[in-house]
Amino acid sequence: MPLFPSVITSKLPTVGTTIFTVMSRLANEYQAINLSQGFPDFSCDPALTDLVYKNMQKGYNQYAPMPGIMALRELIAEKTEALYGTKYDPETEITITAGGTQAIYTAITAMVREDDEVLIFEPAYDCYVPAIELNEGKAVYYQLKAPDYNIDWNEVQKLINHRTRMIIINTPHNPTGSILTADDMAKLEKLTKGTGIIILSDEVYEHILFDGNIHQGVARYPGLADHSFIISSFGKTFHTTGWKMGYCLAPKNLMEEFRKVHQFLVFSVNTPIQYALAEYLKQKEKYMELGAFYQKKRDYFNRLVAGSRFTCKPSDGTYFQLLGYKKISEEKDTDFAVRLVKEYGLASIPVSVFYHQPADFKVLRFCFAKQDETLEKAAEIICRI
Ligand code: GLN
Repeated sequence: MPLFPSVITSKLPTVGTTIFTVMSRLANEYQAINLSQGFPDFSCDPALTDLVYKNMQKGYNQYAPMPGIMALRELIAEKTEALYGTKYDPETEITITAGGTQAIYTAITAMVREDDEVLIFEPAYDCYVPAIELNEGKAVYYQLKAPDYNIDWNEVQKLINHRTRMIIINTPHNPTGSILTADDMAKLEKLTKGTGIIILSDEVYEHILFDGNIHQGVARYPGLADHSFIISSFGKTFHTTGWKMGYCLAPKNLMEEFRKVHQFLVFSVNTPIQYALAEYLKQKEKYMELGAFYQKKRDYFNRLVAGSRFTCKPSDGTYFQLLGYKKISEEKDTDFAVRLVKEYGLASIPVSVFYHQPADFKVLRFCFAKQDETLEKAAEIICRI
């Protein structure tokens, strides 16, 4: 049948299927151990699923209020103030979203206009650039380099001009597992204060930091928080990535614009899960103990691969560990990652795909949000490579 219009001009001509889908699909096809896409292979707390069921049975199955149910927003306000010191008004400054990605898309759409520049640090999580480009903004890139992936703020300064509308930061950082320091945050504040530049701070791994490091969230810095959107995710915190639940914090004037987009993108999000989270979130230990929980997994995985030919600088946060393979092969990381699936039955994520131009530091990302048994099987393969 002839199609009309016969030629579609893609709005995202260079975008294909995400690396997470590609690698997870390949892992399934080859029945490989899947440490590629970031998700736990263990269950969430049954008490949480019970709460969802209970709230469905109670009849909470119709639309939630557009910004989310108040009880949950109130708890998020309390948690944010207790942990980071900034007070967000649940009425006007907190919105529950269908996961971090939707919140990020919404914030970018609410703020970015044609030809606006958005500074991002790459390797950058893959949803940032398409969102910028669909809004006709332009991504400006600062390249982070292996093995430390740290930021030289004097260099960042050179990328800023009157068209800079937004800076996107991500701490703890996916895919590298690095974190921003108090010094980074102070420099970011100095750089953006009074400029009209908006910060979009992707903090979905806020509770997963290791070795005594504390999360340097934007909400610790009133001078940053007053021009920032902060994004967080229940999926990462409560082992429920498939529920697609997250939230956004922002001062009233920014949140007003955010909600204008949110209400027409999703209107509101899953009602019974919001009620469940509004009860579950009262148990502070559930998120306060997450760092220790994942540090055990990181340490276990890193101990198991210590005898391999990969190099390993322990991750500071997130549930990802980078391993370098320079001593093993000169192949491109994308080729090497595919070969590991096909020949060894192990799936990972090649880090170069998170750069807009080829930047191959010969590192692969491994997700350690897995049962010990899965980590053992994966490590056994890694030690054979
Ligand atoms: N955040 C997950 C990761 O980094 C991927 C989520 C997705 O597949 N979009 O692996």
